[in-house]
Amino acid sequence: MHQYFKYDFEIDVCIIGGSIAGNYLACLLAEQNVRCCVIEEHEILGLPFQCAGIISQKILNLAPFPKSIILNRVKTAKIVAPNNQSIELSGKENPVIIDRIEFDKYFGLKAQEMGAKYYLGEKYVSHWGLPHDKILIKTSKHDIVAKIIVGADGPFSKVAKRYGIKNAMIPAVQARVKYNYDLNKTAMYFDQRWKELFGYIVPEGNNNVCRIGLATSSHPNKAFSTFLKKIEVDSSQIISKQGGALPFGYPKRFAFKNAVLLGDSACMVKATTGGGIVMLVSAAKILASVIDKSLKKNDFSQHYFRKNYEKPIKCSLGIELKLHFLIRLILMELKSEDFNRFFRMYLNSKDLHEIVKNYADMDFPLKLVGKLLLNREFMQIVFQLIIRNLSIIPKIIKIFIS
Ligand SMILES: Cc1cc2nc3c(=O)[nH]c(=O)nc-3n(C[C@H](O)[C@H](O)[C@H](O)COP(=O)(O)OP(=O)(O)OC[C@H]3O[C@@H](n4cnc5c(N)ncnc54)[C@H](O)[C@@H]3O)c2cc1C
Repeated sequence: MHQYFKYDFEIDVCIIGGSIAGNYLACLLAEQNVRCCVIEEHEILGLPFQCAGIISQKILNLAPFPKSIILNRVKTAKIVAPNNQSIELSGKENPVIIDRIEFDKYFGLKAQEMGAKYYLGEKYVSHWGLPHDKILIKTSKHDIVAKIIVGADGPFSKVAKRYGIKNAMIPAVQARVKYNYDLNKTAMYFDQRWKELFGYIVPEGNNNVCRIGLATSSHPNKAFSTFLKKIEVDSSQIISKQGGALPFGYPKRFAFKNAVLLGDSACMVKATTGGGIVMLVSAAKILASVIDKSLKKNDFSQHYFRKNYEKPIKCSLGIELKLHFLIRLILMELKSEDFNRFFRMYLNSKDLHEIVKNYADMDFPLKLVGKLLLNREFMQIVFQLIIRNLSIIPKIIKIFIS
């Protein structure tokens, strides 16, 4: 069949990207005895380190991993307004702070033990269709014939670009810093100068080291210096610096003929916090079973992947991710005095305390938002905010109808 094409080997599923999305999916596929390989451009799994590593405790049930990878757990989130007023929120979440390098490695090694083939130091270049419903994937070292390609190649996904998809991106800056901070607490500093996220402090553990960072589209390095100054960190405390990028939006198209996207490449990232791990792990579980069935049915059509992967994800995780984006759009409009009003309202309202305590969820805000929509005080402030920023209305409508 392939006498007209030269190729090095044939496989059922070729995953591009050996970070958490690629490694976790490879584990699930190998567990189902699906023949799969992972192409990763870096020589060592887990590197470079580009993550604050804070994940809700849901991850412990979703994708169990050794306890040694958990460095710390926090109970409280301190939210700081531009004028340094702050409130502290504690809900049912006790997020874990992980060793992200070991986390990626763990799933990568587990996938290999279960039979997934890894090609490290090898770069995906392009792919195109072959007769008989297969594709030819060109990497820097091999020509691979596969039935399905999975783009798990991160925010700058080349696989996504092949389908004309380009995610909006926010540059992120982070550093590991010698900084004495309450082990039980993370902090989020809101400020118009880094309005697409917040400045964060995440204590690594009892080593007096914190992961401190922010993301913004305008002058990220300058904003980072300003943030460090604000929290009284000087350059001598910086141990190492990390860069990165956060996709900004929500998943739109991620299923094609013989191809699907997973994780940052599909914009499965919460626009409120920049966190992507719980979302992509949840999506990988659905995808693994869809891929298994597609191989059994020999159906690699766009229709099949849209119906069984893209649509169900859009109707579940996708709605939550849209909501994250909507909240982010509103947060981006908040001025110092708006934070003060929210804080005052929160501190004086028993109802709001109860709602936050019972419904706050780092990953899935739908229930919390549903409860807040029924709270008169809260809605009054939100309406006043929207009336003052009418330009936000078309953006909100666009999210709802897309
Ligand atoms: C500063 C920062 C802090 C963050 N903090 C958190 C956090 O606290 N909690 C959380 O849940 N999320 C956090 N995130 C987001 C989280 O890191 C991502 O959602 C997650 O890493 C996405 O995983 P992924 O596998 O989809 O993509 P990535 O982790 O980006 O991995 C993509 C992989 O593909 C490889 N690759 C790319 N192109 C090619 C190619 N052409 N050929 C071969 N290989 C290729 C890359 O080398 C990489 O290994 C943070 C992100 C940043 C930038």
